Amino acid sequence: MTGKIKENIKDVQKQITEAAQGCGRNPDEITLVAVSKKKSVDTILNAIEDGVQILGENYIQEAVDKIEKIGKLRSIWHFIGHLQSNKAKLAVKYFDLIHTVDSLKLAKEINRQAEKVGKIQNILIQINVSQEETKSGTNEAEAIKLAEAVSHLKHLSLRGVMGMPPFFDDPERARPYLRKLARVRDAIKIVNIPGIFMDQLSMGMSDDFKVAIEEGSTMVRIGTAIFGSR
Ligand SMILES: *Cc1c(COP(=O)(O)O)cnc(C)c1O
Repeated sequence: MTGKIKENIKDVQKQITEAAQGCGRNPDEITLVAVSKKKSVDTILNAIEDGVQILGENYIQEAVDKIEKIGKLRSIWHFIGHLQSNKAKLAVKYFDLIHTVDSLKLAKEINRQAEKVGKIQNILIQINVSQEETKSGTNEAEAIKLAEAVSHLKHLSLRGVMGMPPFFDDPERARPYLRKLARVRDAIKIVNIPGIFMDQLSMGMSDDFKVAIEEGSTMVRIGTAIFGSR
């Protein structure tokens, strides 16, 4: 099993490099987040042995249990799931980057918790590119307003945006959504809000990360292609 994960990691890293080079980008601009939701502590430890540095988790309690066992010395943890305000304290305690801030209410609560522990919390704004009712996230106009409001919250550092297109069998069909997400990032960037950074674009999963890289992704979140199906 561990041999397989090692192979998968190498393979994914190779595909990231090739996709970047194929569109004239520097592969070093692209961060791999290995999505380990529903995977065991042992599996994650093996992946860390095999070179994974950043892990993405979706469910706060599951993540906390695993991080407590694995520790933060050899790994960096990103929160990529839906976050409720009442879990902001745990998210601040355990995660270097929260990808899924989609409201001012949540941003304020994260800021409040970060202030209590003297931390500057890195966050991304989650954009709902598909406008599906069931998906979390905010739209472009709201995202600009949210970024402006977040810029006044002293214990948050806004680094960019995150999003997820609807699932398609053919990754080419995800391209318009990925492009739209990149545009939202650019639209926020161009406003030149002081005190925020719009350098990160978190998009691309197992099925569409190559297209996402072509559309400017700086952070790909990959689960299945590394760990197998869940
Ligand atoms: C599960 C998940 C991923 C990883 O999906 P795969 O298709 O397994 O690569 C990425 N991002 C988010 C937000 C997820 O929930």
